[in-house]
Amino acid sequence: MYAGAKAFFFALSRSGTLKRLASKYGLRDHHGFARRFIAGETIEEAIGAARALQSQGLLLTLDYLGESTRTVEEAAAATREYVRLIDVIVASGIERNLSLKLTQLGAGIDRATCVDNLRRILEPAGRHGFFVRIDMENSPWTDVTLEIFETLWQQEYRNVGIALQAALLRTERDVRRMNELGARVRLVKGAYKEPATVAYQRKTDVDAAYLRLAGLLLGSGTYPAIATHDPVLLEEVRQYACVHEIAKSRFEFQMLYGIRRDLQKGLVADGYHMRVYVPFGREWFPYFMRRLGERPANLGFVLRGIMGERS
Ligand SMILES: Cc1cc2nc3c(=O)[nH]c(=O)nc-3n(C[C@H](O)[C@H](O)[C@H](O)COP(=O)(O)OP(=O)(O)OC[C@H]3O[C@@H](n4cnc5c(N)ncnc54)[C@H](O)[C@@H]3O)c2cc1C
Repeated sequence: MYAGAKAFFFALSRSGTLKRLASKYGLRDHHGFARRFIAGETIEEAIGAARALQSQGLLLTLDYLGESTRTVEEAAAATREYVRLIDVIVASGIERNLSLKLTQLGAGIDRATCVDNLRRILEPAGRHGFFVRIDMENSPWTDVTLEIFETLWQQEYRNVGIALQAALLRTERDVRRMNELGARVRLVKGAYKEPATVAYQRKTDVDAAYLRLAGLLLGSGTYPAIATHDPVLLEEVRQYACVHEIAKSRFEFQMLYGIRRDLQKGLVADGYHMRVYVPFGREWFPYFMRRLGERPANLGFVLRGIMGERS
């Protein structure tokens, strides 16, 4: 079930017809069925959502959705949009923190284009005190993503961090490397269906790896981000930090917009740093389908939303 649902929704996420239909109705008004997970299509809507989160003591990172650009022009347009967002965010006064995907910036076209585009974003981001997190995509992109990250790191960009996936067999090595560099890591379970040659297939194995890696990051990492909604893992991490006397200020928790808001609030109330990943933009469909794949029960929620709209 764990891997099966992911694969099923991943296949659906490639359907052009479904995408067109969903895009037409999903964010149509305040009751659109995708609203629960997507802050809106425009930066103004995202800033509104960000302000509401900040007023509850939550930290945030904004993700301008998009991935797998196919042409140099598309990648350049996404880059320009991020540069524009930096100015809009500065003017709005919300927290300065972005998340992005390298295939959005042209990693699939050629590496040099992607490095140039990322640099174009990191320059103004650095000047304005932004932190930029590189999301991790499916395993064909792991090496490229880490190589591009290290290229920029060697060029002394320090306002940038990376996400690593506990599901991948290789990740302990990557965590150790990032700890050695002093780079900031966001630890996630991994949102993609991956083959057994590269990834654990059972939830229990992924969870065990997650805890092991979280320990490595909390022990010798640089302000790691523990990104999960899993209550058992959250409790284990809290215990670990407590037993090893790791101060609450030395790491943060992260969760996705609209997911386990009860846990988000609870962590803030307990004095932890809690960051919410706020996705927005017109290209929300693949992100949305990954959220359904993680928890097929969300489909019921979506269907109720659609039926509600019709009635
Ligand atoms: C801030 C953040 C950034 C991320 N960045 C990346 C990235 O760069 N690359 C990547 O591959 N993955 C990323 N992910 C996704 C991650 O890999 C997982 O797919 C996702 O977080 C679900 O796993 P989980 O840790 O919450 O645990 P799970 O075992 O999947 O879920 C544990 C519990 O959390 C709740 N839950 C989980 N998912 C959902 C959902 N969709 N809807 C409702 N409830 C849910 C349920 O209560 C569930 O029982 C990110 C996740 C977060 C929180």
